[in-house]
Amino acid sequence: MPKDYLIIIIIILGILSLFALKKTYEEFTLPKVAVTIYPFYDIVKEIVGDKFEVILIIPPGAEPHNFELRPQDILKLRGVKIIFSHGLIIDDWTKNLIQNLKSAKVVYLYQNVNLIDQDPHFWLSLENIKKVAQKVAEEMENFDPQNKDYYKKNLENVLNELNELSKFAQNESKNFSSRYLITQHNAFKYLAQELNLNIIGFLEGPNKELTPAELQKLIDSIRALKIKVIFKEPGEESNLLKTLAKEFNLKIYELDPIEGKSGLNYFDSYLKNLETLKEALR
Ligand SMILES: [Zn+2]
Repeated sequence: MPKDYLIIIIIILGILSLFALKKTYEEFTLPKVAVTIYPFYDIVKEIVGDKFEVILIIPPGAEPHNFELRPQDILKLRGVKIIFSHGLIIDDWTKNLIQNLKSAKVVYLYQNVNLIDQDPHFWLSLENIKKVAQKVAEEMENFDPQNKDYYKKNLENVLNELNELSKFAQNESKNFSSRYLITQHNAFKYLAQELNLNIIGFLEGPNKELTPAELQKLIDSIRALKIKVIFKEPGEESNLLKTLAKEFNLKIYELDPIEGKSGLNYFDSYLKNLETLKEALR
C-alpha cells in the first residue's frame, strides 16, 4: 500500500527535522552561568566572553539586601551550569533555590576575598574584585578546559583594567583634602580602606534606623570635624539625609554602592564614584 508508506515516510521526515531543529537551537543558544547579585555581573561577563550566557538572578535595579525571589527569576535558571554566589548574608534569598538546583555547581565568591568584619560589601575593594575575577576564571577553566586559553586571556584583560583603575584611584585619592565620609548605608568600608578614607557615620542599615544615641554621635562628629558634605545613593535620598544636609549646610553628593541601582557597569560606577569623591573632598 504505497499511500501508507508515504505517510510513514512523511512522519519519519518530520521527526528527523525536529531533531535537526533542536540541534540547531542548541548550537545557537549558549550554555548558561548565573550570578546572584549585580556587582559580579560585569566581571563574570568579561571572563566568559562569548562562550556562556550570563544570567543575573536579581532583577536590574532591585535592592539586594532585602530581595525575595519571584517565580520568573527562578525560571530564568533552567539549564544553568554554574552559579556564582556572593555567599555571605546579602544573597541568602538564593539559599533554597540553590539547594534545589542540583545540576548547577555553586561557587561562593566570599571565600576567596579578604573580609573586613564579615561585611558583605567586599566588591567595593578593587583588590577583592581581582580575586573574584581570578576565581571565576579558574572555575571556567575547570568546567570548560577546551577554552582554557580563552578564559586566561580574558582574565588577563580584566586584571589589567582593574590594575589601571586601582593605580588611578590611588593617585586621585592622594589629593583629597578631606577624608571623611557620611553615607546612606554602611556599604563603603572596603572603599574607605583602599582609598584611606574615614567613615564617620551612616544614616541607616537595611531595615533599620539610627538610634537617638547613634544620631547624636553623628551630629557631634559633623560639628567637631567641620563636615561639609554628605553622600546619598542612586535612587535614594532619605529624609534624615535631607534634614542633616539642611541643618548643617552639607552639600549632597551621590556615592554608588554598586548594588545595581545606577544601571552603570562596575568600572563606570567605580570611576564615577572617584570623580564624585574628587569633587566632594577637594
Ligand atoms: Zn549594601
